[in-house]
Amino acid sequence: MTKKVITIFGATGAQGGALARAILSDPASEFAVRAITRKPQSDAAHALSKLGADVVAGDLDDAASVGRAMAGGYGAFCVTNFWEHFSPDKELAQAKTMAQAAAAAKLQHVVWSTLEDSRKFVVPGSGEMPVLMGKYNVPHFDAKGEANQFFVASGVPTTMLYTSFYWENLIYFGMAPTRGPDGKLSFALPMADKKLPGIAVQDIGKCTYGIFKRGTVMLGKSVGIAGEHLTGTQMAQQLIAAYGEPVTHNALTPAQYRALGFPGADDLGNMFEFNRDFEDAFCAKRSLSESRALNPELLTFGAWLAANKSQLPKQ
Ligand code: NAP
Repeated sequence: MTKKVITIFGATGAQGGALARAILSDPASEFAVRAITRKPQSDAAHALSKLGADVVAGDLDDAASVGRAMAGGYGAFCVTNFWEHFSPDKELAQAKTMAQAAAAAKLQHVVWSTLEDSRKFVVPGSGEMPVLMGKYNVPHFDAKGEANQFFVASGVPTTMLYTSFYWENLIYFGMAPTRGPDGKLSFALPMADKKLPGIAVQDIGKCTYGIFKRGTVMLGKSVGIAGEHLTGTQMAQQLIAAYGEPVTHNALTPAQYRALGFPGADDLGNMFEFNRDFEDAFCAKRSLSESRALNPELLTFGAWLAANKSQLPKQ
């Protein structure tokens, strides 16, 4: 049987890599993986190749290469990496390039990894949240949400995938508990007592694989995924077992978080404020039961921590 080719952007990264592994670890899969990277000679690319992916060079800033990446395929997983350049304009341009190339290649199923355009909830400049880059509340959310229109306008059959906060941020994004001057561990989450939808990166891949397997019934739909919706206090309680010592929730205000000053702190402070203030809509969009239906192996935070606690930074 000829397998249906899914072109995966970001295949050497978290989301795309998780999807590639979900497909490649299923020998009975109806899909084959075409893994797109700017660096086909990298260790990450070689690792995918070893697992059975067809590694193909492509650059989202080079439309011709994106067209070649999609040609002759069945579907595509489209993701952009805001944190590489911090530019909403670049994210918009890259999404438009993928949408147009997918339409030109007549792909049958595209999954676009998006997030909410927070400006549909909060008019920039109307509230406490500072306006960023001239017209955004949460640049890395807003540009993705704005880019949904390119997939709709191109007419390519698309599922909009609304992802959640990766729990891996505690390992790789500096969000683990830190030790205060009193020597005690605290976990900073500026969301007061509101819940944050979170997910294990591997489950983004497994849920997305579930979307591709369901096929045509998912076209034109928006799907939100999360492993659990938890408050900062609930996350801190679970971190106690992982660290083997007390961990408290440090409920900074979003303004205090923005003032931490690291690159992107203002964007993330606004993001947490948006998540906090629109908790109901944000959580409702990310149904746990629907995520589990797409991926029965969906991890809870506790299960993710049990499997990953050795990787948490020692403080
Ligand atoms: P990642 O692990 O940081 O890896 C980035 C991937 O993007 C790599 O595979 C890289 O490929 C590829 N890439 C970047 N620029 C490219 C270009 N010009 N052409 C081709 N490929 C390019 O990325 P990720 O975490 O999977 O996805 C990043 C996105 O996730 C961000 O936009 C972020 O907003 C979103 N997100 C993050 C979270 C979170 O909690 N961290 C939650 C939801 C959504 P090569 O380097 O191999 O070319």
